[in-house]
Amino acid sequence: MTAPSPTVPDPQITQAAPGVWGIRLPLPFQLNHINVWVLADRLENGDAAWTLVDTGVASSLTRSLWEKVAADLLGDAPVRRVIVTHFHPDHIGLADWLCRRFNAPLYMTRSEWLLARMLCLDSSEENAEAGRKFYSAMALDGPVLAALTARGNAYARGVPVVPACFNRLSGGQRLRIGDHDWSIITSGGHSPEHACLYRADGAVLIAGDMVLPRISPNVSVWPAEPYADPLAEFLDGLRRLRELPADTLVLPSHGPIFQELHGRIDELLRHHEERLADAERDCANGGRTVAQITRAMFNRTLDTHQMTFATGEALAHLNHLVEQGRLRRHHRPDDGAWLFTPP
Ligand SMILES: [Zn+2]
Repeated sequence: MTAPSPTVPDPQITQAAPGVWGIRLPLPFQLNHINVWVLADRLENGDAAWTLVDTGVASSLTRSLWEKVAADLLGDAPVRRVIVTHFHPDHIGLADWLCRRFNAPLYMTRSEWLLARMLCLDSSEENAEAGRKFYSAMALDGPVLAALTARGNAYARGVPVVPACFNRLSGGQRLRIGDHDWSIITSGGHSPEHACLYRADGAVLIAGDMVLPRISPNVSVWPAEPYADPLAEFLDGLRRLRELPADTLVLPSHGPIFQELHGRIDELLRHHEERLADAERDCANGGRTVAQITRAMFNRTLDTHQMTFATGEALAHLNHLVEQGRLRRHHRPDDGAWLFTPP
């Protein structure tokens, strides 16, 4: 074990619920932190152990913070498993390092593992070409299009390694962690098969990115599946999470712990209804491109990283409106860009 550097700040460790500790790790994005979770667990023989949920980004700072967590919280008890809620770099970035460091197996849903593994290995030309075609169809300004298509495999830069084998989590599955049963609740929309963990005893939800207190989780269409309707899956996932008790303690991946699960889900559902209505109305007069809807939806300056999420989210709303029969998609004759009009 490498000795933690004295210049590394202390990790912010707080007890979130009985047997559950939260650790706030820094992120090098505008979204400047992620909460990861450490759960008191046991080995088969009853000895004390730990289960980790999510990892932080792959960086030397995050590794040093985990070393401090090992020294301050984990002590001599082994890590029994590393659970990753979904494939995004802030959640899975350090999974390979943590699994090796603690000699622990990775647990994920199959779609999330497959996508992570594929994206970190896929720097193929056809993948780059799909990106160019996809962003060209959005009628973005030349410099924005150039920046988006010049990014190469940004995922592989954030997630250099994904473990080559894993243990599968599935929706409805129960996991015994320490003295408690946790149910796996899977949802699409934010990512293909995002796993939340719910403990009925004390009503605790490890929500991942499905329900966040301050920001609306990103719901995006991506180049690999340009006609997808991830918003339908996301809204369905929120409605299923709303079946949990109203006073559920929500442990989100970003922002503070909170206890108004139903109220927050209702706000998120309303937010998307309003965005759908706005996009539908904007498209009424002669049609709109994805770039135009993106500008209307995100009325601020966006860097290249944020632009991929913003255009993807605008398109998610437009595709949902097409699926609902509220809009039609055309190809603009002059440049082939997508134009969305009333049906
Ligand atoms: Zn995410």
